Amino acid sequence: LLAADGSVRETIFAEMSAIAARTGAINLGQGFPDEDGPAEVLEAARRAIADGVNQYPPGMGLSVLREAIARHQARWYGLDTDPATEVLVTAGATEALAATLLAFVEPGDEVVAFEPAYDAYGALVARAGGVLRTVPLRWSAGGGHAHAWLPDLDELAAAVGDRTRIILVNTPHNPTGAVLGRDVLARIVELAERHDALIVTDEVYEHLVFDGAHVPIATLPGARERTITISSAGKTFSATGWKIGWAVAPEPLITAVLAVKQYLTYANGAPFQPAIATGLDLPDAFFTEAAAALRAKRDVLAEGLVSAGFEIALPAAGYFVVADAAPLGFADGEDLCGRLPELAGVVGVPVSAFVRPDRRAGVASLVRFAFCKRLEVLEEASTRLAGLD
Ligand code: PMP
Ligand code: GLN
Repeated sequence: LLAADGSVRETIFAEMSAIAARTGAINLGQGFPDEDGPAEVLEAARRAIADGVNQYPPGMGLSVLREAIARHQARWYGLDTDPATEVLVTAGATEALAATLLAFVEPGDEVVAFEPAYDAYGALVARAGGVLRTVPLRWSAGGGHAHAWLPDLDELAAAVGDRTRIILVNTPHNPTGAVLGRDVLARIVELAERHDALIVTDEVYEHLVFDGAHVPIATLPGARERTITISSAGKTFSATGWKIGWAVAPEPLITAVLAVKQYLTYANGAPFQPAIATGLDLPDAFFTEAAAALRAKRDVLAEGLVSAGFEIALPAAGYFVVADAAPLGFADGEDLCGRLPELAGVVGVPVSAFVRPDRRAGVASLVRFAFCKRLEVLEEASTRLAGLD
């Protein structure tokens, strides 16, 4: 995040991964899997390299991937997309977010997002000269597994106004694992229409849903023409290092995003593009089995955290579980995350990294742990955390 003087500090993910590497602690901080994705996808990348797909692809991305993304939108969500004009391949979801925010946010424009929020949002909006207005997702009282993160729709309505250029949605949500329901999404569309705002939606965890169903906001009435949908192959295919992402939107919006993207990276990842096209065309069973395998991992870590004395909100989706360390006597998650490698040999990320400095008190004792790791790693982490109290 940006410091008050405008300087940029290392992201919390890089910082915590470096601590894990230095101490040998189990890294449940930065969200990346410790196993490779489907063999067909890996093989397709090797084949593409051998076949000479090694020079600049077109700025919009290779048509084989754009067509696969359009087929994916139709198959899973019934969305009709023109691969020639409405799909843009990017260097991960991160570049799609950066190019979109730089394309549309003018100095002084407001971007509204739920908070906690993925750390890139605030940094990118600030770089574009905009102002990030946040609406809290509240950690509701529950106990055990029964906490839930709930948005307050009246606060959302109060945050959106005529200065709002973009409502930035993230579902499934990092770090909470919340999946936004149709009622919340419909309210966002209504507010965007009323104030003529764009909707930018980050759906990188779209296939990693355990409870309920992912609803792309672009499928709601009135949404599509003002929505830029951003996703990534990183999570779905356990290939976070390939940095293949995309934006899907009506042509005029894609044209504006491309105008910026051409001067960020111009293009990226040539041989990975056909490989991800292969992945997107895999049968439904691949996607459902990947979610089921991750769900089993979620359950192991969730159980481990509860046995160790944390309170958690069981995430409905994604890579992460948020745990409250207060019942264990740790009021300060930042301090705990600094000491956790030494206390327990485990690395987590303080949820305070996902909120504005003035909102830290509300999430002070919360820590995010990643469960996109092998079962034995999660079991070992649980054993270690059990020794905390
Ligand atoms: N958005 C969210 C919510 C994320 O969690 C991440 C990274 N895990 C990204 C965007 C970035 O995705 P990519 O690695 O494809 O740039
Ligand atoms: N999205 C990943 C996370 O939330 C990290 C990505 C990164 O390191 N920038 O852990």
